[in-house]
Amino acid sequence: MGFLKSLKSMFTASSDPNVLWLYVKCKRCESPVAVRVDLRNDPSLDDESDGYILRKEIMDDKCFTLMHAQVKLNARHAVTEKTIDKGEFITEQEFLVMRNTQMSK
Ligand SMILES: [Zn+2]
Repeated sequence: MGFLKSLKSMFTASSDPNVLWLYVKCKRCESPVAVRVDLRNDPSLDDESDGYILRKEIMDDKCFTLMHAQVKLNARHAVTEKTIDKGEFITEQEFLVMRNTQMSK
């Protein structure tokens, strides 16, 4: 019971409804980066829709490429569109695998 409980809290730790995690990788060195977004403060109102727009500068810690991510959210904070230059969006799963691979090198 105790184990299951701690396992569960491990998985739900990042499910704060006000927090959005973006996972990207650098196109140049393939370094994975995770970025925490505070949905209460980071996005700004999008003039073109009734949602929000978030612009984020992300730098990887290997070749220090500065990536510009732009994420569009609807009024309920669900992601409707995301683009990034010099990088690529990856899933949380991919991020964890890449991080683990890097650490074991
Ligand atoms: Zn890089």
